[in-house]
Amino acid sequence: MEEKVEKSISRMKEPSEEEAEGVVIHVAGPVIEAKNLRGVEMYEVVEVGNEGLIGEVIELEEDVATIQVYEETGGLKPGEPVIRTGEPLSLELGPGLIEQIYDGIQRPLEGILEETGDFIRRGVDVPPLDEDKKWEFVPVVEEGDEVEQGDILGVVEETKTVEHRVMVPPNKKGTIKDIASKGEYDIDETIAVLGNKEGEEEISMKQRWPVRVGRPIKDKKQPGELLVTGQRVLDTFFPLAKGGTAAIPGGFGTGKTVIQHQLAKWSDADIVVYVGCGERGNEMTEVLRDFPELEDPWSGESLMKRTVLIANTSNMPVAAREASVFSGITIAEYYRDMGYNVALMADSSSRWAEALREISGRLEEMPGEEGFPAYLASELASFYERAGSCRLYGGREGSISVIGAVSPSGGDFSEPVTQNTLRIVQVFWALDTELKNRRHFPAVDWLSSYSLYLDEISEWWEENVNEHWKSLRRETMRLLEKESELEEIVQLVGPDALPPSDQFALQAARVIREDFLQQNAFHEVDTFCEPEKQFRMLKLMMELYSTGLKAIEKGVSMDDLAAMEILEKISRMSNYPSEDWEERFNDLEMELNEEFNELEETLELSSPIEKEDR
Ligand code: ADP
Ligand code: MG
Repeated sequence: MEEKVEKSISRMKEPSEEEAEGVVIHVAGPVIEAKNLRGVEMYEVVEVGNEGLIGEVIELEEDVATIQVYEETGGLKPGEPVIRTGEPLSLELGPGLIEQIYDGIQRPLEGILEETGDFIRRGVDVPPLDEDKKWEFVPVVEEGDEVEQGDILGVVEETKTVEHRVMVPPNKKGTIKDIASKGEYDIDETIAVLGNKEGEEEISMKQRWPVRVGRPIKDKKQPGELLVTGQRVLDTFFPLAKGGTAAIPGGFGTGKTVIQHQLAKWSDADIVVYVGCGERGNEMTEVLRDFPELEDPWSGESLMKRTVLIANTSNMPVAAREASVFSGITIAEYYRDMGYNVALMADSSSRWAEALREISGRLEEMPGEEGFPAYLASELASFYERAGSCRLYGGREGSISVIGAVSPSGGDFSEPVTQNTLRIVQVFWALDTELKNRRHFPAVDWLSSYSLYLDEISEWWEENVNEHWKSLRRETMRLLEKESELEEIVQLVGPDALPPSDQFALQAARVIREDFLQQNAFHEVDTFCEPEKQFRMLKLMMELYSTGLKAIEKGVSMDDLAAMEILEKISRMSNYPSEDWEERFNDLEMELNEEFNELEETLELSSPIEKEDR
């Protein structure tokens, strides 16, 4: 579809006066029909009705245009006017995006809140970026410099954490004829004049870009750096690379939103774009309440200083929900182009797909599986494809990681949205209802989840944390797999039938599950666990396992092992704060060895006959 969109978008031109106005002939919820819109293009934005509701042309047949309207159409009647804008659905990009909360078509929610004293009014026209605010612009080019798309003209401190790099917009180049001197400018003032074949072109800090087309890049490269999330089960077992794609499918209440919030809070991305898509409004309110208070562990500043929120909650119009993920990824691309690592969370892509289904239904298109349109897969792909680790114009690199929550009803992963998403994404964090019921959080199923970035990310771990990472992870996975095999046997014959070494494997696997895989998102310390700490925790737990096996060989009993004091201490490791965990882990390691030595010493003192009995 993208190619088609691009073609249509590049052709679009300002309508002449007699072309500009059409008339509504039919209204069906978010989808309406209009005629007499002469010259109108596919994907062109139009203003619908007396209130000027924002809509987008999604079908054209002779002189009848089908339009999806991004706002409530209640009260709209045939006969009302439809006005062409000559432009595809586009965003305003420039300083002032960070810390904003937008709806799916970039209307600032707070701004609208002020204007109407209510949620969001229809057809209301509030500028997406503050037009009055002055930004301190510092030029980095000089008169006479040759520049092209992506080159940085100057910088602005957008927030304490984000340096906004004002770039030559896509597809433009020339000689700098004039550049603003250091000083305060608003987003519409000219900060540079480019001279080129077409003459002279004035450039401000604001650009526009159509949401349905990816911004140009040089090329993509294989992602290889870990997106640190501070969530043990993710970073250690199913790592996501910066520039990678992940899906979090899970039934109701399995913890999708909590994981997305955790990623938005703690991941080491430079910029976070959080798209709340069709879920309950109070979850977005939670973000709005929490984020300004929380400190970014990477910068020490408030988390909002690197965050853009897009909210199209369940009570807002479905067409804008369909657009919201594309708006989100367009903003992500804009910051990626500056050379940042951006992470985008979408919660939930299922609600987005349902919006697609509803609109498709109104168009009376031939439904595919479970009523979803046949183009569900390609639409999903057109969104996830815009993730990636990229070489950019201007000689920089940047990335977008995309993490989509999927909410299959009843937690049944065979439904179309989950299945189509899995064909695209490289990381699969499967949330399990059974684990949730046992209050094992995050409820990531370690046996069915996977990451296809493991080889690349192993290198990252080995270079940045420890050279033995890969083998440690592999041995732990083996232990967990062994546990699941042993559990089947235990179900049949009971635990006592197992040899002591297997009984101890169950004990050790339980330590891994309860003290490593489980992680309390709401605990002050445990909410974020740095990679070094993850490695050391796991290493100690696996040492417990290997040393325990040796002790069993020497004749130490299961009862003695189960009563070891070190177990209790290991279970509290995750709560050791960053100031002193390393020291305390070192002590624990010594205690572990001492306690085993003591056990073996008592054994040597006891009689050989007794030993035989064991
Ligand atoms: P979903 O979005 O999948 O419907 P939520 O993310 O809202 O589910 O999670 C439901 C509940 O599960 C949360 O309110 C919380 O009580 C619990 N929960 C989920 N993840 C965690 C976690 N990592 N730590 C503690 N509690 C969790
Ligand atoms: Mg949720």
